[in-house]
Amino acid sequence: MQRIVNPATGKLITELPGADADAVDDAVWKSRVAYQGWSKVSPGDRARMLRRFAAVVEEHKEELAGLETLNAGHPVSSARWEAGNVADVLAYYAGAPERHVGQQIPVAGGVNITFHESLGVVGIIVPWNFPMAIMMWGAAPALAAGNTVIVKPAEQTPLTALRLAGLALEAGIPEDVLQVVPGEGEVAGARLAGHPDVRKIVFTGSVEVGREVARAAAGSVKRVTLELGGNSANIVFGDADIRKAAASAPYAVFDNAGQDCCARSRILVQRDVYDEFRELFTEALRTVKVGDPALDTTEMGPLISAEHRERVRGYLKREPDVVGECPEGEGFWMPASAYFDVAEDDPLWTDEVFGPVVAIAPFYDELEAISLANATPYGLSGSIWTGDTGRALRMARAVEGGNLSVNSNSSVRYWTPFGGVKQSGLGRELGPDALDAFTDVKNVFIAND
Ligand code: NAD
Repeated sequence: MQRIVNPATGKLITELPGADADAVDDAVWKSRVAYQGWSKVSPGDRARMLRRFAAVVEEHKEELAGLETLNAGHPVSSARWEAGNVADVLAYYAGAPERHVGQQIPVAGGVNITFHESLGVVGIIVPWNFPMAIMMWGAAPALAAGNTVIVKPAEQTPLTALRLAGLALEAGIPEDVLQVVPGEGEVAGARLAGHPDVRKIVFTGSVEVGREVARAAAGSVKRVTLELGGNSANIVFGDADIRKAAASAPYAVFDNAGQDCCARSRILVQRDVYDEFRELFTEALRTVKVGDPALDTTEMGPLISAEHRERVRGYLKREPDVVGECPEGEGFWMPASAYFDVAEDDPLWTDEVFGPVVAIAPFYDELEAISLANATPYGLSGSIWTGDTGRALRMARAVEGGNLSVNSNSSVRYWTPFGGVKQSGLGRELGPDALDAFTDVKNVFIAND
């Protein structure tokens, strides 16, 4: 049985049986049968069903947000954002079945056309940090492209995934087109990744498990999208709006208690404004409201589990330079913490801590900032704060990452591609690119005579 716990109280919410390998095989079989119908649904009808699914999610937004807050400890305001994002992503990809067009390519001796063919059964393995959004970033384009989907949620956070599968049925998506199989990663996840009839795996999670999933998928040459860790840099130049950069920097790392693959967990500040930034940031960190995630005013909730909190604490070899507030009680609480003048080879600088901890260091010039920013095996996101457009573009090109933003800390816009370079992953989700990741191009040549 899987114990599902409220991270804000440490109390049991419910227990669920976990799927074993046979249960996954059964789900794959049902998915293959469902695919025969779903892949033949006309583009207009598939689009209508996905639009209806988006509307049903929108109607249940408050319920879904409440469930995510209970199960993942997200402050309810960010859980509402997440539920809204699920509805938006579904509505966006509802436009795809009627628009994902092929090409007619001029060739000698005949006519050549290409088709975007659906793949079949798609497996989506989801982490615990943004359970419903990450599930739908995979499921929505996969379904729109005509595939059937099996989701394996994280052990800790299956509740919103299960509810979304129920809402899909309510919205008229046929049975078994979208299934959720909660279970242990090494059992259910591993079987899904290795199953010969699963044609594509989308995995979001740690680099270590990502490697295992890619190895298992290689057995049947599955298509693979990997969204792995991050350790992103927030680079603040002296010519930036320092007040704005400092005021938004805490949210960029402490959102979801730092358990965000795009967290700007390292801040690089140009030496001439380092002291000013330090003062402003310290002030802003101390005002982060930590506590009951069910309250509208809460900005940071607990960590996901006691075990994860121990892992994060393992990085804190000395007292932080600044510490925020931290509630008492049984939940998995940890204060927001900042370290200044962190060395380039410190694990706080090189590793993904995945908690409410930020490492801050000064730099002299663009070259040093680039070298410090890239001193990590990851390359997911990052920010550049500057008033100089040329510098912004130079830096955005030089920093290794899939998603860079200028004078902003946002990484995710469902209209645009999202994903990592280096060990942060392989492939892109969201935007128009995701559709190509759930289809294969078929080329057909018809001879003139
Ligand atoms: P994790 O790798 O431990 O687990 C992720 C999922 O994989 C879970 O569902 C788990 O049950 C499953 N799993 C575990 N072992 C497996 C196996 N052998 N075969 C198949 N599946 C298996 O990651 P986590 O701790 O849940 O999530 C945190 C990590 O996810 C962080 O590294 C974070 O950066 C990353 N993440 C990345 C992105 C992104 O888009 N790049 C987004 C969110 C989280």
